[in-house]
Amino acid sequence: MVKVRTRFAPSPTGFAHVGNIRTALFSFLVARHTGGEFILRLEDTDKNREVVGADDYILDAVKNLGIVYDEGPDIGGPFAPYRQSERLDVYKKWADKLVATGRAYADPYTPEQVKSFRVEATRNKHAFLYRNHRPDNPPAWDGTRPLRFKSDPKNYAWHDEVMGDLHAGEEAIDDFIIIKSDGYPTYNFAHIVDDAEMEITHVIRGQEFVSSMPNYLNLYEALEISRPIFATMPHILNETGNKKLGKRDDAKDVMEYFKEGFLQEAMVNFIASMGWNDGTEQEIFSVDELVAKFSLDRVGRSGARFDEKRLIWMNGQWIKRLNLDDLYERAQDFWGTSGREASDDEKKKVLAIIQDRLKVLADLPALSEYLFERPQPNWTMVDSNKQLVKLNRDEQIKLLETTAAKLEMTDWTEEKIQISLNELLEQTGQKPPVLFGLIRFALTWAIFSPGLPETMALLGREETLARLKIATAG
Ligand code: GLU
Repeated sequence: MVKVRTRFAPSPTGFAHVGNIRTALFSFLVARHTGGEFILRLEDTDKNREVVGADDYILDAVKNLGIVYDEGPDIGGPFAPYRQSERLDVYKKWADKLVATGRAYADPYTPEQVKSFRVEATRNKHAFLYRNHRPDNPPAWDGTRPLRFKSDPKNYAWHDEVMGDLHAGEEAIDDFIIIKSDGYPTYNFAHIVDDAEMEITHVIRGQEFVSSMPNYLNLYEALEISRPIFATMPHILNETGNKKLGKRDDAKDVMEYFKEGFLQEAMVNFIASMGWNDGTEQEIFSVDELVAKFSLDRVGRSGARFDEKRLIWMNGQWIKRLNLDDLYERAQDFWGTSGREASDDEKKKVLAIIQDRLKVLADLPALSEYLFERPQPNWTMVDSNKQLVKLNRDEQIKLLETTAAKLEMTDWTEEKIQISLNELLEQTGQKPPVLFGLIRFALTWAIFSPGLPETMALLGREETLARLKIATAG
């Protein structure tokens, strides 16, 4: 059996868009699932769109996700170079072959002439087709003019592993440019040459290329290259699912998520879940599980929603699964000012009690600073709490004093603290949201905080009582 070889072929235009990265991930999974190879190729032939540094940026994004490629521009491989701008001789060789067989010609027209053809077509209510203006005696191709493919229009039917059986009529086929006047090949030509040269078996890419498939199929034939397997990824839609996820508006760059403290595991899991599931209710998948279970026939045809809330939830799930030492390592860069100064031991204790609530590492300061440093009382939090405004300030302070008195006589373990808190409920006749909500504020002045016994145990008796005392001063 032929070894599966897939590729990710980004253009270095400046952005690690989730849609492209999903294509990279799915291509990687298809290769690994069968023990095949995954190749990274940089498609840098559009000099107008190129952004300096974007190549390294995209490679970093891929690496940060743990997507390991077997061949690529920075590591080489048997089909090097893997950067299209360094392969111009290869495209020239294949272009010459087309010229020799009469399947390519130099474009003799000026942009103004082409424009007038278009205007004429619109006036006659025709779709503009370049091939209707094919020159009878084209000039020899000397590299100063674009080289066009001389197409052989016909109807095509083809299979797409995701989209199913597709077909298109000959009107979808035209004479397209294969080498531009600057000497660089177009994507339409270069990817076909490279996929063949690099022995790619599966072409997995975004939906924007489907409409060009008839042109590609026509070119495969002219070049006498056999078709690879095609798989088209559905669009990624915005959160409400009503439009394609834009580059600027809603989708963040994958690297931005890493900066905010999203975990590699969660990012991979989330990206894989956009358009793929294993047919069960399972939502959390490790990379190894994805490699074992991934298949193109379970990629959906319709658009997949980019739901950031789901990503945040997944990240929380993955944070929960980390052991404390691992979480500690990954949290290193995210502590707030006083957290940074705390000892390793203190930091680990803090992490242990907030781990369940921590969704994104960037939230670490907000969830932990009050544990390291005494917060400023902020009674507006109490006053805007529906449960707590049922009591007036004197009643609130009285409750805190009663609490302090009880805690002074409590042994300082989580269990004993819990018992005392329960007894306080009985003693004061208050409901848990009122009494415990009030104590929480008095100790943390934070909107979210861990359970009271854990918080108190961590703060220690002295600090707990000191904070209650400050609060009772009103
Ligand atoms: N260079 C193309 C892009 O970035 C790649 C498309 C493909 O995978 O063939 O959109």
